[in-house]
Amino acid sequence: MADDAASPEPGEPEPERQLERNARARAPGAWLQQNRALALGLGCVALCGVIGLDVYFMLRSDAKRGASAVAKSAQGSGLALPSSLSAPAAPRALASEPVADDGVGLDYESDDGEPHPGKAPPAPKHFDTVQHAAVESCTTASVDGLSRQIIAQARCIRPNAFVPLPSRPNLVIASQVFPYLELEARDHLLKAVDAHPKAKMTINSALRTVAQQYLVWRWSATKRCGVPLATPPGESNHEVGFALDIAEAASWRPALEAQDFKWLGASDRVHFDYKSSSSAGRTATDVLAFQKLWNKNNPSDKVVEDGRYSPATEQRLKQAPADGFKLGPSCGRPSSPK
Ligand SMILES: [Zn+2]
Repeated sequence: MADDAASPEPGEPEPERQLERNARARAPGAWLQQNRALALGLGCVALCGVIGLDVYFMLRSDAKRGASAVAKSAQGSGLALPSSLSAPAAPRALASEPVADDGVGLDYESDDGEPHPGKAPPAPKHFDTVQHAAVESCTTASVDGLSRQIIAQARCIRPNAFVPLPSRPNLVIASQVFPYLELEARDHLLKAVDAHPKAKMTINSALRTVAQQYLVWRWSATKRCGVPLATPPGESNHEVGFALDIAEAASWRPALEAQDFKWLGASDRVHFDYKSSSSAGRTATDVLAFQKLWNKNNPSDKVVEDGRYSPATEQRLKQAPADGFKLGPSCGRPSSPK
């Protein structure tokens, strides 16, 4: 055979196939005309396929957009929920916000006081004056040296002014705290603590000296160190040894109130003041103690030793050495408040 391609396939009559091929070759439109219905059908199927594919991809991309929108709204709900749906949780979150960086005092928030220990620098630097400590530090520990002298001098003036808190298994005193209270307040506090030996009490502030109160007062005035509100120096019950800031304030409130401690209220949830008939009108001894220390060390620049936080006293306090005077407290010669 010379032409393999032309050779007829087995079982098929050669002439018929040849005729058909010839007819197609001669008239390309002829087949379409002859099979119009079939062509229309095929066209429809192709068109439907294309449309179907389009619809499929459109739906698929919509579904993707929908999914990402859901994901985004889920992410967004972290911000949206607290303000809208979980309103009851919001005050709690706000309350713990200032101290959220330190688990020690999640319930500790003092409006009249001390910045939270978690916000204080780990190792307090030394400052030459109280004023420098107020401007540059955020911890009352920066005036520790002077504060210890003031406490010791105050105890010389009136031994019951600042009495140490003894240790108790359920009493935790934070490291920055000077653990002193006025005698009567101290005894009433211990009655409350001893009546509930299984409950822990964490004291985050007790006695505060006039130097420390000056710091927190400046911090509140200049909106520094997270102190929202502070009593002016010479006016705080913390200086008298009548005030306590307690981490577990809510649970201790009934026991403390039974011992004449008054809860200050929502404005300062951790603060209690000792108030009894005999405590009324008691003034702080810390200012007088400072005035005595100042005069001893500055004989040419004396202030009146009247125990009042006057502008003249404030001016000296600002210049006083944060680490303490060269000449410390003395109980040598008896003296009494004027
Ligand atoms: Zn307080």
